[in-house]
Amino acid sequence: MTYKKIRMANRKRIALVAHDGQKQSIVDWVRYNKAVLVEHDLWATGTTGGLVEKVLGKPVHKLQSGPLGGDQQIGALIVEGKIDLLMFFWDPLAAQPHDPDVKALLRMAVVWNVPVACDRATADFLISSPLMHGEYERLVPDYEAYAKRSLPVDMKPAGKTGKGKD
Ligand code: PGA
Repeated sequence: MTYKKIRMANRKRIALVAHDGQKQSIVDWVRYNKAVLVEHDLWATGTTGGLVEKVLGKPVHKLQSGPLGGDQQIGALIVEGKIDLLMFFWDPLAAQPHDPDVKALLRMAVVWNVPVACDRATADFLISSPLMHGEYERLVPDYEAYAKRSLPVDMKPAGKTGKGKD
């Protein structure tokens, strides 16, 4: 397996998402880590972002609310290499209408080797890592080979029957 490197600058691009049952938890965590967080660029799903802005007194890049596509927007930013860390406080005790999006976001984070914290303790460990204060090269599998894999697909135009025969 070969890898590509994605450079993470000193100033990290951090995405924050919290389900409603975890909103208080993320507000408390952001307040506790305010001094570090203000040194980085923050992205968040809509409602979470509004709360975080109030605590930090600084603007956050707010996306749609999670159930309206915000999780997917963060997933897309991860795919584009625009997010360095994800703090995703999902609620283990409540079903979510956008459960497929939750899974997709967590999956994208792993596909692109983005560090994810799903609870306060992990978020504390991530935010206090020495790697937060310097550049870091994240290794991502080189997916070129996957994108160029050969598949047994007949690319000849279909005949009149549409079944591949004339
Ligand atoms: P919200 O979305 O920040 O807009 O509440 C979070 C989520 O439920 O994914």
